Amino acid sequence: PCHKNLPDAIDLSHHLSKVARAREVSPLKGLQKYLGRKDIIMLAGGLPHPDLFPFEDVSASVYPPNAFPSNNSTKPSFFSWITSLFSHKGQTWEKLKIRRYAKETGDLNLAQLLQYGLSSGLPDLQKLLQEIVERIYQPAYGNWKVLIHTGNTDGWAKAIMTLCDPGDTFLTSEWTYPSAISAATPLGFKAVPIPMDNEGERSDALLVLLSTWDENVRGAPRPRVMYTVPIGQNPTGATMHLERKKEIYDICVKFGSLDVIIVEDDPYFFLQEGLYTPRQDRVMHKDVSNEAFLASLCSELPQPPISIDYQGRVLRLDSFSKTIAPGSRLGWFTCNALFAERLERQSETSTQAPSGFTQGLLTALLLNWKFDGYVRWLRGLRAQYTERRDLCIDLFHEFFELQEQSPGVKGTPYNGYLKSRSPEALNYWAEKFDDEVKQRPVISFVPPTSGMFLWLQINFDDHPSFNRLGRRALENRICTEFAEAGVLVGPGFIFSPRLSDSEEDGPGHVRLSFSNADVRVQFRPSREECLFVAELASESERYQDVVSQIKFIV
Ligand code: PMP
Ligand code: PLP
Repeated sequence: PCHKNLPDAIDLSHHLSKVARAREVSPLKGLQKYLGRKDIIMLAGGLPHPDLFPFEDVSASVYPPNAFPSNNSTKPSFFSWITSLFSHKGQTWEKLKIRRYAKETGDLNLAQLLQYGLSSGLPDLQKLLQEIVERIYQPAYGNWKVLIHTGNTDGWAKAIMTLCDPGDTFLTSEWTYPSAISAATPLGFKAVPIPMDNEGERSDALLVLLSTWDENVRGAPRPRVMYTVPIGQNPTGATMHLERKKEIYDICVKFGSLDVIIVEDDPYFFLQEGLYTPRQDRVMHKDVSNEAFLASLCSELPQPPISIDYQGRVLRLDSFSKTIAPGSRLGWFTCNALFAERLERQSETSTQAPSGFTQGLLTALLLNWKFDGYVRWLRGLRAQYTERRDLCIDLFHEFFELQEQSPGVKGTPYNGYLKSRSPEALNYWAEKFDDEVKQRPVISFVPPTSGMFLWLQINFDDHPSFNRLGRRALENRICTEFAEAGVLVGPGFIFSPRLSDSEEDGPGHVRLSFSNADVRVQFRPSREECLFVAELASESERYQDVVSQIKFIV
């Protein structure tokens, strides 16, 4: 795809690693154009005969795009809880079927999907992804390319091998996604943390870090790659707004040949829930059109940096993990043509391409839904996760007295004080804090506006065991106690790129993901209410599993 009136990416070849430069183009490449031609007998590759694949067809029943309402209910109630139990029942499914040999021209062929194919992806899938990038992200340079990968974990591993040599450093935020570090460390790529605020990486701190970097003092070259999760950051939930993105982008451009490539790992782009409003003030969201939804993702809320990337220096990673299913193992790079070509060579010798089943089913799904259907699906997801986010924060209101740090300013952090009328919280926290300390906040957090995570800061200075145990051990102990009580959360220290450092001061943290919470967590129905639902449900055999769920709750 090319925007004719946009200039191509600048030459960024000085960023390719030794390994990336050394990859050779397959000597068979010249023959690739013959792949897929009907009139040719393929004897060149080690191709198994497609008649010998044991699959005659693959079919699936899938939700229609409007399976979930696109505006969220404001106050989860007993009735929305019941509706959620019944929501899968009586659903009309759309049927997808892929045959070994398609009946109609234009349909997908299992014989092709399960055969060796191009690392860049099934051409039909390529087209659909290009449409998403073109219509939603709108890259600001001409020669961008789309290349599939098996999820952002794979995408990042490939990106860093293409950009870094052993001994190199890369920038990341001071709290970051642990797998990103684990992928880099054993290869000899060292993470350099950038201090964060509520919007993620601080541009002023980045500028100081880059302009004062002394290789002799640091014992390593200046970072040339920045890993960032710009929206609903993992683990802090922070979301970066356009102005900050531009500042960071300009800093990355600024240093001439010591410039920085931005690898944007953005799995939560479509899960932008917006500002949290306390339950009593919440009003029903107005349903919006697809166009208004997309505009809200890209203007009101943060834009993907790729749309400000006029030089082609952002390597963007998209994933279907959070919008379709993580087990699909499918995502894609959007980047300049030079990087895309090197990444394709890398895929050819590792994953080759994501599984043909996955490519086939996702392509069939998106062809069935079409672009507008997919956007409608994303609107439903946004409403679902907004409800879950709200639910999670509502629960904190129940157990803590929450006060905004800057009252009246939307999106400011909350401080949570112990509330005498919540015995559960008191039982847990009260034995840990003396009376005087109870007047100070026990927890604080910024209500997340995107993604799946709530990053809870715990006031450790007032914790009686802090001096003895230190931060890491205390986080571990709190998480173990939570787990014993039936809730698994992540201790903050695992999200530090400085895992090996013995930095033991500062507040404690735990990461909660609200994505997997549902109305049942908040709503504890009475026995009578459960019996009522059980009676309702047992009228029909179809509702047997609902009955068993209710028994479990009773
Ligand atoms: N190794 C050898 C010796 C092969 O012949 C082939 C297939 N032509 C491969 C590896 C590639 O195997 P796979 O499809 O499992 O990646
Ligand atoms: N990157 C970030 C920031 C994530 O939070 C996650 C999932 O939790 C991933 C990548 C993994 O993505 P994928 O399933 O696409 O490999």
